[in-house]
Amino acid sequence: MAEAGPVCAVHLSEVRRGQPCQFPHLPLFEFEGKHWCAFHLPTGNGSPKDKWTPEELQAHLHGQLARAVGVAAEKKTSLDLSDAVFPENLLLDGTQGPGRPVSIKFERTVFSKALFFRSFRLGAGTMFQDVHFEGRADFRGVLFERSAAFFEVTFGDIAQFMGVKIPGEALFYNTKFMKEADFSGAEIADDLRLDGAHFVEKADFSAPLESKGSILLAGVFARDTRFDGEVTFRNRTFGGEVDFSSATFGVAPEFHGCKLHQATRFGGPKAFPDTRSSAAAARYRTLAHAMGDMRAHDEEAMFFTLQHRALRRSRPIYDPIRVFSAWYDALSSYGQSLARPLALLATANAAAFLAYAGLAFHRGAGPLHSAQLGALFAFQQLFRPLGIWIKLEEPTWPFGALGGRGDAIVLLLGTLQPIVTAAALYLLALGIRWRFRRW
Ligand SMILES: [Zn+2]
Repeated sequence: MAEAGPVCAVHLSEVRRGQPCQFPHLPLFEFEGKHWCAFHLPTGNGSPKDKWTPEELQAHLHGQLARAVGVAAEKKTSLDLSDAVFPENLLLDGTQGPGRPVSIKFERTVFSKALFFRSFRLGAGTMFQDVHFEGRADFRGVLFERSAAFFEVTFGDIAQFMGVKIPGEALFYNTKFMKEADFSGAEIADDLRLDGAHFVEKADFSAPLESKGSILLAGVFARDTRFDGEVTFRNRTFGGEVDFSSATFGVAPEFHGCKLHQATRFGGPKAFPDTRSSAAAARYRTLAHAMGDMRAHDEEAMFFTLQHRALRRSRPIYDPIRVFSAWYDALSSYGQSLARPLALLATANAAAFLAYAGLAFHRGAGPLHSAQLGALFAFQQLFRPLGIWIKLEEPTWPFGALGGRGDAIVLLLGTLQPIVTAAALYLLALGIRWRFRRW
């Protein structure tokens, strides 16, 4: 029976706003002038909880938890483990007791070591909010009744969801995965929502090859999601909308063997800074193909460019193919840019005009006359490309007056201007073709 005296101090904490402790029948421990139940008794600062022997831990905490789970399952009530502190490895064992699902609220709960489950049925009302897993969190033994709901959770160590079956949504809003996140082979019936999540290391959402096509993901939403490490969706079939439009990938993501949904969106080139990892070129090629298959030409073009940048960087610096590739990229983003050839066209001709006009001015023409001569001569080179090499009957002053065909500078400029112009026009035509092709 609950004592009439002190109650667990957790209800005084500001975040709980007077919400009482769910375990009033448990003995209380005194620490820092307050009374706490075994669940809410903090650790650190010489707390008696730090000195519990394994037997005491079992008697005071883990045994009590197993009992509370049993009662909740029996009475079909939910369990509130908010603000509880678990200092040692914890196993939630569903093979004991009635085996009914239990909904557990974990808010600000601290797991200082690992958390495991054994055939444990987590009820539909279960949620993890602002929880810190300082050790491994292993959910492979969970039988989810419906969704898996994680909000602003921090996984300080490996998050293990390998092969779990989630009949509803998998929500990981604003969740931080400090170490590997393993969702390989996980079956998620409804949407996977990773909005605001941050994967610091590897994230594995792959499916085993033999089950290809049998494991479906519905929609995948990853708005403002950061994948800093490797991320793989290998062999996944996406049954619904896939939104990576504001997600960033520190390492080229792997989509080999995937079937992407028509409504699949990726962000721009800034979302894919990696053109140096060894697998980057092959991964971008896969994405370029996938985007091409669904006629998403802008994304196809982007991944094509990324693929060739990655390929280029895998070659030695003196390799002529690397040099040509770098030029092709700089001048036209591998034949896809309209702006770059236009800029080249304008710059080359403006520079030629200025050089001709400057030369005329240098040789004594007035400013206006120099401009006229420069413009005229620049136009001549466009409409009669390389005509500068043909000996003129009457060379135009001041060009060609010296030695009949003009001096070296005029000859050089008059040669380069039409060649660069032709190249820019060709690149422009390529860019237009990329942009508007329909096959
Ligand atoms: Zn308490």
